[in-house]
Amino acid sequence: MAKRRLRVPALSALAGAAASLLLGTSVLIASPAQADTPSRLAGAPVEPAAPAGPVVAAEDWNPPANLVQPLDEVWRHVESTYPDLYGFRNYGWDQIMANGGSINYCVRWDSSAPVSATLRDEIHEALTRQFTKWMDVMAGHNEWPYDEVPVNIVGWAVRDRSTLQWSDDSVDIYVNDINEGAPQCAPECGRFFNQNGDYSRCPGGAARHYDMSLWLTSGFGGGAGGDWGQRLGSEYFVNSRHNADIHILLHEIGHSFGLDDFYDWTPSGVGGFLMKAGSAARITDFDAWMFRDFWRHLKPRYGL
Ligand SMILES: [Zn+2]
Repeated sequence: MAKRRLRVPALSALAGAAASLLLGTSVLIASPAQADTPSRLAGAPVEPAAPAGPVVAAEDWNPPANLVQPLDEVWRHVESTYPDLYGFRNYGWDQIMANGGSINYCVRWDSSAPVSATLRDEIHEALTRQFTKWMDVMAGHNEWPYDEVPVNIVGWAVRDRSTLQWSDDSVDIYVNDINEGAPQCAPECGRFFNQNGDYSRCPGGAARHYDMSLWLTSGFGGGAGGDWGQRLGSEYFVNSRHNADIHILLHEIGHSFGLDDFYDWTPSGVGGFLMKAGSAARITDFDAWMFRDFWRHLKPRYGL
């Protein structure tokens, strides 16, 4: 699936996300650029955990010496291929900053499989654990302001209310509002549709807005990710919800924060890493430094 992505280099997930602002999210659905092939992970290298080294001073930028060149290559590639790298303002970074240090999700349950309250909560816990792996990369690093970033699921969208087997009101429930062939939470509550931050038309107001969708589709292989959220197979997510690393979700969250794909090139001197689909099943040191590098280049927009 990876090879069948559109060949335009600029149409990375992020570029797709930017384009989708103009063209609608179908752009993203139509370009499964972010497919992982689990069978290719058999030989994924096991990398040592990052050393627990000294606390990095606020302004420090000190990647390991062997990563300096590949990180530079990646950033120059991003600069030359993203259509609006520095003007785009709906990265995951922007969403968290707008919220003051949290992220809100809506689940698009694109399946007829029933969901118990227990499964609902386990899906939330799994999403939180995976999202937090990326946030842990940033804690205490280079003026990133948040040691922890709470992940809230504020809504579920479903075709049929009876699919959701709970009666409490812990989340907002949206029934049979179909867009892109799948249930969606109210656009009035979604950041993708209201990037001015005005949620006055959202019934629950800003507190019940969602920044990203966790779009779980029955029978869907691989994944997709962008500023709008992440899309995965519902069976894959449910079956791997207790895994330490839900690697397709991790990869797609990487896209939501601007990280690129590496289908057609590899930075010098680095082996397998998460954002090179199929070559690693967890966030590697190189992924972590690419993530930090994105923040380094974006943080001036926040006066940091
Ligand atoms: Zn990808």
